[in-house]
Amino acid sequence: MKLNKNFLKFSDDYFFYKISCKIKDFIAENKEKKVISLGIGDTTMPLCEAVISAMNNSICEMSKKETYRGYGPEQGYKFLRLKIKNYYKEKGINLNEDEIFIGDGAGRDIGDIQEIFSEDNIVLIVDPTYPAYIDSSILSGKKIVFLNGRKENFFLPMPNNDIKSDIIYLCSPNNPTGSVYTYENLEKWVKYAKNQGSIILFDAAYEAFINSENLPRSIFEIKDAKECAIEIGSFSKTAGFTGVRCGYTVIADDLIFEGCQVNKLWMRRQTTKSNGVSYITQRGAEAIFSKEGQKQIKKNIFYYKENTKLISNSLNEKGIWNCGSENSPYVWAKCPNDMDSWDFFNLLLTNLAIVAIPGSGFGSNGDFYIRFSGFNSKENTLEAVDRIKNLSLI
Ligand code: PLP
Repeated sequence: MKLNKNFLKFSDDYFFYKISCKIKDFIAENKEKKVISLGIGDTTMPLCEAVISAMNNSICEMSKKETYRGYGPEQGYKFLRLKIKNYYKEKGINLNEDEIFIGDGAGRDIGDIQEIFSEDNIVLIVDPTYPAYIDSSILSGKKIVFLNGRKENFFLPMPNNDIKSDIIYLCSPNNPTGSVYTYENLEKWVKYAKNQGSIILFDAAYEAFINSENLPRSIFEIKDAKECAIEIGSFSKTAGFTGVRCGYTVIADDLIFEGCQVNKLWMRRQTTKSNGVSYITQRGAEAIFSKEGQKQIKKNIFYYKENTKLISNSLNEKGIWNCGSENSPYVWAKCPNDMDSWDFFNLLLTNLAIVAIPGSGFGSNGDFYIRFSGFNSKENTLEAVDRIKNLSLI
């Protein structure tokens, strides 16, 4: 028996473990202090009423012989796929429900989708960005090429025809920087992908946080994108489904490589490896799209975004450059006084008992940045913001 050697390419120094150790040590030495985490990438507001009610109803259905459900369709129930189809239609995108695949969250599909691509593909990844793109590419034995996201290019690097790539991960709004590609940007990406014969894996997990009507929420708003892109969506941050687990992947019939419709391959893969997402979960997800559901989730999104605004304003007052709060639940800040991201992390923790995520965890271009999140409660965010006001930077 031989192990998958790709696992050995990971460093032992697991980033989030290192953070949790530092917090644990700090708490042990400062028992009287209240640590406030502005680092969390997890939601804290409860599921909205419409979702709870739909889930409760479906539990009742499961309790009766006549309405009990066993295994569901591997691709997801049609009732949910139809709702997602309509959601896209509102953005002017026509899909057919068979192009939509329900899964248990974007995280899973982001990695698993690599199974349908050959190991000798080159993966292009924006640095900084969500680390799962890197880890899943490493695990599947693929070569990675990075594209530099910097303050100068608003953390939105653009394609360069001299760089060869086969698979491109794009995240917009980006985690951690909150940057959003414009229509014009994405048109260039689609053109590049088509020229290269590559595929874009577009992570739209934060699309619901986009504030402006002038920014694209889906790669499929771009002409010809169906021929070169897959979109991955999630209800985690949109509707507090981080613990419930539900998301979706859209692969249009027009996505054809080597004469094969990619969605047929994905369907084949799903029928082998997935027995679907629970009925109760999918009924809950369906309720997100009801009139009430939309109103209620938007209220929660607004709540988180108010928090990011508070954080951003407090950093501005301290003269700390930051971005991201407009269209994402994150604030991406430049560490002051040329500190690197771990130095600033340590300063915030030891002086203010605030936790933020060192930017280096999202790629080397994050070395001198830090990520705050708006997912804590308003009360805690206000308290943290008060502490930031007293931060001494001399
Ligand atoms: N994509 C991005 C950019 C994320 O930040 C996250 C989670 O933080 C995910 C995907 C994973 O989402 P899910 O909870 O749907 O697996």
